[in-house]
Amino acid sequence: MTGPPPRERPPGPSDADVPRETMLPYGRQDIRDEDVAAVVEALLSDWLTTGPRVPEFEAAFAKAVGARHAVAVSSGTAALHAALAAAGVGPGDDVIVSGLTFAASSNAVLYVGARPIFADVEPDTLLIEAADVEAKLTPRTRAIVAVDYAGQPCDWDALSAIAARRALVLVDDACHAIGGELHGRPVGTLADLNCFSFHPVKQITTGEGGMITTADDGKARAMRAFRNHGFTTDHREREQKGTVSSDMVALGFNYRLTDFQAALGSSQLARLPEIIRRRRELAALYDQGLATLGFVEPLVTRPGRAHARHLYVVRFDTKALGRTRDEILTDLRARKIGANVHYRPPYLHPYYRERFGTHEGLCPVAEKAAGCIVTLPLFPQMTERDVDSVVAAIRQIAP
Ligand SMILES: *Cc1c(COP(=O)(O)O)cnc(C)c1O
Repeated sequence: MTGPPPRERPPGPSDADVPRETMLPYGRQDIRDEDVAAVVEALLSDWLTTGPRVPEFEAAFAKAVGARHAVAVSSGTAALHAALAAAGVGPGDDVIVSGLTFAASSNAVLYVGARPIFADVEPDTLLIEAADVEAKLTPRTRAIVAVDYAGQPCDWDALSAIAARRALVLVDDACHAIGGELHGRPVGTLADLNCFSFHPVKQITTGEGGMITTADDGKARAMRAFRNHGFTTDHREREQKGTVSSDMVALGFNYRLTDFQAALGSSQLARLPEIIRRRRELAALYDQGLATLGFVEPLVTRPGRAHARHLYVVRFDTKALGRTRDEILTDLRARKIGANVHYRPPYLHPYYRERFGTHEGLCPVAEKAAGCIVTLPLFPQMTERDVDSVVAAIRQIAP
């Protein structure tokens, strides 16, 4: 057959096959007037950092995800670092990490001096595979860091069973998954320590920022010290108590979130349900639009999981298309679709290869996926027409 593939619907003036004029990014922050007002109010207040807005944001966040404690930090990466430190993970320990995640997940294991061991993922969800976690346990395994990839919660029931048997600490890298649920239980309560990011592409933002939730009083206290150089009280607490000095009880970091960031976070958090609802609507539109195309397949959502829809990831049948994933990506970008890739397995980065001798073959499913996945644009201000333009661009890359 020659010529373009048949159209599913008649062309018209509103048809999305008309090339896009502007680049559609894969993610974008949603900043409203009320966010700006909240930040300005904080900037004009007495406290730029370590003020009342940080505990206010923490309380609102803990309430939103049904957690006992929420500890705010300066990034999602800092959240992972604080969580592993509070879990007591250190030199001599092994930590199981998902083979398909952002490098920050395994870098945090290195920060505390432990060794990351990568477990493979399920081919249709790209979530960590419990059976491979089991297979990769060593006598030194202390913790599991599992990523709720794209916003879908992992099988935390299976992971909890393994953790209980081996007395392991469970860390949820929930940086994609605020607003998700597993059998009605919110992300933020599924693991011992649950780490969130407020980077601008995530569901809610503080510019840079992060949060850890936990039910454990001692770990929450340890993380509050950890983010503040290891001191037991912060500046405002000392002022309130009328004391002048504080004990440094551990080696901590300056991982504090500022008050104007916390103000932005609280303002954004108030719109979380609306943001998740819109992301789900857009994902459903993609599902519909892509359903008739045989060479591209969205990831699967398992029953009982409420997806938080941070990323909309598809797998291309590169063999059928006769094109590499990178060629597909270049083609989409030429059509002004800001498609992206999440992720290359962390252990295939030069630093890991050179430092730890990691290599291809450690997680075959993750590696195969890494060669065919593409993340399509998804953010709340996108229109139905934007989704149509992405689907149309994908239709046009077929041979
Ligand atoms: C965004 C992200 C992080 C790191 O968050 P930052 O806030 O950018 O430090 C960690 N893990 C995953 C899976 C992420 O997507």
